[in-house]
Amino acid sequence: KTLAPSVEMFFFPYVGGGHQIPMIDAARMFASHGASSTIIATPSTTPLFQKSITRDQKFGLPISIHTLSADVPQSDISVGPFLDTSALLEPLRQLLLQRRPHCIVVDMFHRWAGDVVYELGIPRILFNGIGCFALCVQENLRHVAFESVSSDSEPFLVPNIPDRIEMTMSQLPPFLKNPSEIPERVRGMKQLEEKSFGTLINSFYDLEPAYADLIKSKWGNKAWIVGPVSFCNRTKEDKTERGKPPTIDEQNCLNWLNSKKPSSVLYASFGSLARLPPEQLMEIAYGLEASEQSFIWVVGNILHNPSENKENGSGNWLPEGFEQRMKETGKGLVLRGWAPQLLILEHAAIKGFMTHCGWNSTLEGVSAGVPMITWPLTAEQFSNEKLITEVLKIGVQVGNREWWPWNAEWKGLVGREKVEVAVRKLMVESVEADEMRRRAKDIAGKAARAVEEGGTSYVDVEALIQELQARTCANQG
Ligand code: UDP
Repeated sequence: KTLAPSVEMFFFPYVGGGHQIPMIDAARMFASHGASSTIIATPSTTPLFQKSITRDQKFGLPISIHTLSADVPQSDISVGPFLDTSALLEPLRQLLLQRRPHCIVVDMFHRWAGDVVYELGIPRILFNGIGCFALCVQENLRHVAFESVSSDSEPFLVPNIPDRIEMTMSQLPPFLKNPSEIPERVRGMKQLEEKSFGTLINSFYDLEPAYADLIKSKWGNKAWIVGPVSFCNRTKEDKTERGKPPTIDEQNCLNWLNSKKPSSVLYASFGSLARLPPEQLMEIAYGLEASEQSFIWVVGNILHNPSENKENGSGNWLPEGFEQRMKETGKGLVLRGWAPQLLILEHAAIKGFMTHCGWNSTLEGVSAGVPMITWPLTAEQFSNEKLITEVLKIGVQVGNREWWPWNAEWKGLVGREKVEVAVRKLMVESVEADEMRRRAKDIAGKAARAVEEGGTSYVDVEALIQELQARTCANQG
């Protein structure tokens, strides 16, 4: 592989699920290309990936964790991406002064970290955790004349992008409609972007070529598209432990899947942050049962009240006798806690994926070649839904049109009929469903090729390492 073992890269992930996991994977991917990679962690986050990094080291990968002396709590739904991580800055500054790495990859949610790194003159590479399509949509939403859109439900065209994509205001964060109300924290992220050396993107060129070109030209080729980074998890242990709280036992669900016929099960999960209210869970349960399809449904992370997560706790969020019926008929498994998502998605029994369209889940579904039922909730997930269903044409929309402002009031209740219709559309054989499945498999092949030697993502990883190496030589010369 690369002849640049001397390049030292730091990775500073956010302290929570959907952003932390891919950055750890990215660090491991760069290490597998010979870059000496250090993950900057906190005492709380270190245990989540210590085991897999230790295993990587045993295999000789140049990777390590540096645990900062300061700590912050892990992000949860009450703060989402807006946790104040500024307590980490002083120990980070000290570390950077001591080690002076060739670059530091910083998650966009660490908006305070921007200036510290910038002042020290160390190239700071932005990681914002979303794909090229969503980046282009977000960028161009700024050019929409919202005054001329008459209501929250009136479709408008997203300007300046290669595909004809319509959205509604109800699918967007409130501040986008009124730029004077952009919160300070969002401005902070924009500023972080402005002074960055470049950007690292977890996607692959063939997934969204026209959008990848737009992003590369915006960044003057300082955009490296290096995914799907989840492919760096090659062994079963890697895939099981990734981001998993140490107490979870995943074997139960794998055994259950092993007992199912190939291509027969729907996997339903809403990511690491979302909390759905009991009335929405109830509708999902009724819809799944009425569809008569087999399913694994991860509820561990989606309940409002954590005490309901306990074994057998189903309070007011499951229909009477639901789990007992699912057990008797073998139709469904309700999973409380953390699911081994990569292992589930690549299991031969899986036929479809009901997802909240978080970018990692989207990319993991794509990489596994599984068509999707899209149920976006917040962040840029409505853009990801458009990519899945309208550009790639590998998904069916459940029909949620309401952007969810984190832990505020839940407006987008989706009824059981919609759930049932979407599940049947994806899972029951039909020309349309077969076409989606064929396209999904085709794209998965491209995803795998992207990270192989000579593939587009492989080439971009090498290009960044070489660029950092060349800068060092120039500075030394
Ligand atoms: N994930 C997992 N098990 C779970 C829930 C989530 O492995 O039970 C992983 C999933 O594979 C993905 C990440 O957590 O890598 C979630 O990221 P995503 O962008 O999909 O959604 P977010 O959690 O940020 O809303």
